[in-house]
Amino acid sequence: MEYTQFGKTGLKVSRFGLGCMRFPSNEKDAIAMVRYAIDNGVNYIDTAYMYKDSEIITGKALKDGYRNKTLLATKSPIWNIGRHEDFEKYLDEELIRLGTDHIDVYLLHNLNPDHWETVKKFDGLTFLDRMVEKGKIRHKAFSIHGTLTAFKEIVDSFDWEMFQIQLNILDEIQQVGVEGLKYAAGKGMASVIMEPLRGGFLLNNVPVEVDALINQYPEKRSLIEWCFRWLYNMPEVSVILSGTSTLDQLKDNLRIFNNSVPNIMSEADQNLIKKVREAFESKNSIGCTGCKYCMPCPQGVSIPEIFKLYNSYQLMTSHWVDKGLYRNSLIPSRSGADQCAACGICLEQCPQGLDIPVLLKKVHEEFMA
Ligand code: SF4
Ligand code: SF4
Repeated sequence: MEYTQFGKTGLKVSRFGLGCMRFPSNEKDAIAMVRYAIDNGVNYIDTAYMYKDSEIITGKALKDGYRNKTLLATKSPIWNIGRHEDFEKYLDEELIRLGTDHIDVYLLHNLNPDHWETVKKFDGLTFLDRMVEKGKIRHKAFSIHGTLTAFKEIVDSFDWEMFQIQLNILDEIQQVGVEGLKYAAGKGMASVIMEPLRGGFLLNNVPVEVDALINQYPEKRSLIEWCFRWLYNMPEVSVILSGTSTLDQLKDNLRIFNNSVPNIMSEADQNLIKKVREAFESKNSIGCTGCKYCMPCPQGVSIPEIFKLYNSYQLMTSHWVDKGLYRNSLIPSRSGADQCAACGICLEQCPQGLDIPVLLKKVHEEFMA
């Protein structure tokens, strides 16, 4: 495992970080997975208040001496902040959940325009400085799924030490993109990359054309491996998070990282990624990562499930099966796209910026045609 400087913090971090958003359903398995990662050299653990019971399970996993071996990152639930005092109230709750007296890297979670307004309105930046003085947090950070312009504004507004962004082979110029990564890294900030596989989208929606490109390439590697290597190659990337759900996935990820070195991508490798990206973009898929931030829908619409069916349908892997599932399962259970009342509540929650009601209408029309 390679360790690198974590921006200007002086910390040394493993380039692989364990994301704790998609834990196995069994708590014992989740704890074993976290400890396996740490025993195998991973020292960066990322969780959040909003990830259901993730903080509590992570706290249990970090008992028995594991806490001292890790840099622990978690996030403030900006959604719930209604006054300045709420910031510290939630931080204190997180410290109890995690069974620790300090957080190494504390992030203001998902600074979309609304959340950024909340931070400014309730003086969230002063809160971060105060918590560093009190010793409750060590380093100040934020995560974002926004545009490059919004990102730069936030970067330039405060003495941040780290930023967390979505980046993968499909997002080179989407959201913050590589340009934003270089911009903030150039200011000495550490970077943590989330969604290196776009929340599994890059695994579950592989067009046959991509399979062919990968299989015909002289160097035999899986698509996952190429995705990680593409990120690994960038010196501005400090930590790449992977939210594994099984021990086998974790072991495979660790194998990839343990076989990686700086400057790992040749020009031919970069060309392969370019062609893979073009093949993905030629498909009419919906860029839903299945994060479920949009759920529950007040009308009962199974938003991520519908988009998953549609993407599978687009790839022609199980054409009629997907259409049939939609018509014969989701529609009768009143969770189909036809239930959408276009209230717009889900729009504010989607980190991918999807126009959910419009996409649902399109999916419904295609599936019912
Ligand atoms: S816009 Fe449609 S899918 Fe979104 S929350 Fe409202 S009813 Fe549900
Ligand atoms: S529609 Fe957006 S918020 Fe909902 S699951 Fe997909 S990516 Fe997440």
